[in-house]
Amino acid sequence: MNDLIAGIDLGTTHSLIGIVEAGFPILLADAHGSRLTPSAVFFPVDGSAPVIGTAALRRRVTEATRTVLSVKRLMGRRLAEVENFPPYALTAAANGDAQISMDGRNYSPAAISALILRELKALAEARLEQPLHRAVITVPAYFNDAQRQATKHAGELAGFTVERILNEPTAAALAYGLQHLQETAKIAVFDLGGGTFDLSILEMREGVFQVLATHGDTQLGGDDFDAALLAHLAAVAFPETDLPAEARSRLHEAALAAKHTLSTADTATISLPFLHGSRHFEHELTRREFEAIIRPLVERTRAACRQAMADARLTPADLQQVLLVGGSSRIPLVRQTAEEIFQQAPNTTTHPDEAIALGAVIQAGILSGAMQQLTLLDVTPLSLGIETFGGLMNVLLPRNTTIPCKAGEMFTNAVDHQPAALIHILQGEREMARDNWTLGQLTVPFTPAPRGQARVGVQFTIDADGILHVLARDTLTQQDQHLEIRHAAVQVDDVQVEEMISASVEHALEDFTERQWTEAEMKGRELLTAVATALPMAHDHLDPTQLAAILHAKAQVEAALAAKSLPALKAANQSLDLATEELAALLVEQALQSALARQGLLD
Ligand code: ADP
Ligand code: MG
Repeated sequence: MNDLIAGIDLGTTHSLIGIVEAGFPILLADAHGSRLTPSAVFFPVDGSAPVIGTAALRRRVTEATRTVLSVKRLMGRRLAEVENFPPYALTAAANGDAQISMDGRNYSPAAISALILRELKALAEARLEQPLHRAVITVPAYFNDAQRQATKHAGELAGFTVERILNEPTAAALAYGLQHLQETAKIAVFDLGGGTFDLSILEMREGVFQVLATHGDTQLGGDDFDAALLAHLAAVAFPETDLPAEARSRLHEAALAAKHTLSTADTATISLPFLHGSRHFEHELTRREFEAIIRPLVERTRAACRQAMADARLTPADLQQVLLVGGSSRIPLVRQTAEEIFQQAPNTTTHPDEAIALGAVIQAGILSGAMQQLTLLDVTPLSLGIETFGGLMNVLLPRNTTIPCKAGEMFTNAVDHQPAALIHILQGEREMARDNWTLGQLTVPFTPAPRGQARVGVQFTIDADGILHVLARDTLTQQDQHLEIRHAAVQVDDVQVEEMISASVEHALEDFTERQWTEAEMKGRELLTAVATALPMAHDHLDPTQLAAILHAKAQVEAALAAKSLPALKAANQSLDLATEELAALLVEQALQSALARQGLLD
C-alpha cells in the first residue's frame, strides 16, 4: 500500500479531491478538466448504475425526483429534523434517520455520499495511475458527532480509510497558510457556498486551531441567488405565462452563467433564441440590477456573524484575519458586506471554491509526511556538524534551526606539529561521525604547532536558498578555505530524514554510551601521555606516597581502558587527573626553583 493520502472537500453542491505531489498540494481534475465535481447523483429510470457529477446535475430539472442533490444536508439527521424537503423521496430508517427512497430501495445519506466519494476516488486514481486508500474529509465546524460519523462512514463505504475528519474553517486557514503565523491569532472564516452559509471564529496558537464559535444559515447560498435571479428573469421575459420545464431549465443555466460573469464584469448578456416557442429572449443584466435582486439574501449573513462574535466575546477589532471561502464569496456584494461586518478588508488570496479542498490536501500531506519538505523548508531538517577527536559528531547547527542561520566553533590540533586538519562535514542525528552522512571535506593546512596550539575556526552559514557555506580559517595565518554545499543542507529526502531520526532514537542509548566512552577514552589517553612526559622529570622530587598514588591511578586507567569499563575509567580518570594536577604543580615549582637558582637568588 502506498502512503498517499487524499484530501477531500465533500461539499453540499461541489466536491473536490487532491493530493500532495512533489511537496505541493494539487487538486485533481476530471476528464473534462474540471476540479469541481457537482455533488449530484442521478438514478436512471431503467435501474442502471447511478450517474454522478456534471451528468447527474443536468437531470435536475427534467428528472428532479430521481436526482439527489445537497445530500450533505441530510447527513446524520433524523427525518423529523429535515427542514426543506427535497424533490426526491425521503423516508425514516428504523432509528428515525433520514434516508433516500428510490425505486423501492433505501439509501442512507452516507451511501449517496459514498457514491460521490467513489467518483472522486476514481478520477484521482485515473490521474495518478495508482490506487488511493486513505483520505482526509472535511465537514462544517457545526457538524455534531452523528454527522461526523456519517461522513466517516461514507468515506469507508467508498473504500477509504478515513485518517481524519477536518473542520472546514480549519482547512481554509491551512490553505491560507495561517499555520505559519508565529503569534496567536483570531480568525473569522466566512464561507458562502451553494446552499449554506457558515461563519466560524477560530483561534490559532502555534499552528493549532480551535473553533471558538460557529454560526450560519443552512438555507442560504448561491442556489438561492440563482433562484431569485431566475424568478426575476422569468418575470421580465414572460410575465404572462409559466415557463415549461425545458425553457425554465435553459433560463436557469443562463441565470447561473450571468451570475458568474457579474462577479468580474459590470454587465452580462443573456441570449436565448427560441426560448419559448418562437420567442427569443435577449437581456442585458447589470451588476447593479443583480445586486438589488440578491441584496436581501446577502443581508442575512450579518446576523450569523454578529451572533458568532458575541458568542466568542469578540469585536471585529479582535480579528487578525477574515478569510472568504465558498464559491459565492466571489460576488463583489458579498465581499463588500463581509468587509462592512468585520470592518476590515478580507483576505481573498486563495481560490474561494478550492480553499477548503486545498486545506484538506495540506492536512493529508502533513499526516502522510509528504508536506514535510514544504513545512520544513525554512528549517534545517537534520543537524549539521563536523567530526572531532575520537570520531564524534560535533553539532554546529542543530536540527530544526530556522534558516538563514550561522554558527561557528574553534578547533585545535590533536597531534604535535600536525601539518593539516581535515574538516569532515556531517549531517545527521547520530553521536558517532561514522553513522551520519558526509556532506563534504575540507583540508586546512596548519602552521605547525605543538598539540592543542594551532587554532582553526569553522563557520557554517546557510543562506535563504538553503545553501550551506563552510568556511575554515587558520587563526594564525588568517588563511581561509571555503566549501559550498548545495541543496544537501535543507533538501533532504523526507523518507531519509525520517529514517535518520528514528535511527537516532532507536540507537540513543548505545550512541550515548559510545560517546561517553569515547570521551572518557580520549581523556584517559591524554592523561597517560601527560604522566608519561612528566613523571621522568619529577620522579626524584616526589615523595613515595605521591609516587605510589600516581602509579596506582595510572595502572587503574590502563586497566579500565583494557577492560573497556566506562564507570571504572571515569573513576580512574578522576584520580589520575587529581594526581597529575599535583604533579604539574610540582613541575612548575621545580622549574621556578631551578630558574631562581640559576639566577643565584636562592641560597
Ligand atoms: P459548497 O461548499 O456548497 O459545495 P461551493 O463553495 O463550491 O459550494 O460554492 C458553490 C456556489 O458558488 C454555487 O452556487 C456557484 O454558483 C457559486 N459560484 C461559483 N463561482 C462563482 C462566481 N464566479 N460568482 C458567483 N458565484 C459563484
Ligand atoms: Mg463548501
